[in-house]
Amino acid sequence: MKLWRTPLDIDKFTSPHGEMHILRARCKGCGLCVRYCPRDVLVLSDDMNEKGYHPPRAVQPDRCVACRLCELLCPEFCIFVVESADGPNSEDATGTGARSKLNGGEERGDAIPSPVPTGEG
Ligand code: SF4
Ligand code: SF4
Repeated sequence: MKLWRTPLDIDKFTSPHGEMHILRARCKGCGLCVRYCPRDVLVLSDDMNEKGYHPPRAVQPDRCVACRLCELLCPEFCIFVVESADGPNSEDATGTGARSKLNGGEERGDAIPSPVPTGEG
């Protein structure tokens, strides 16, 4: 899932970093956490758990921003996230890189059109 636009004031905010924990034995491999993670952190693994399902694994753990959407959506309560103060996203506090990191490295802010002058006032 991709963000469709960049917030105009994104440089004023920092992104937290999350550490994900997956209780593999409980997973039923539904893929909701993979499908709806806004940062593409997860994929379903090739390994099987005891129930014969493929639990998720984090392929890009550094990109997790601790939004907890995966936690909220998991029907088996088998994924949870702990927020970490000193993760890679905390570097965004410098104001550099926040925009590109949140968009997977793409700069989209330039695509926002400038206001058109009306000639009045
Ligand atoms: S907390 Fe958010 S960013 Fe991190 S893995 Fe879950 S859905 Fe993805
Ligand atoms: S949402 Fe839960 S049950 Fe479904 S694949 Fe993810 S961890 Fe497994």
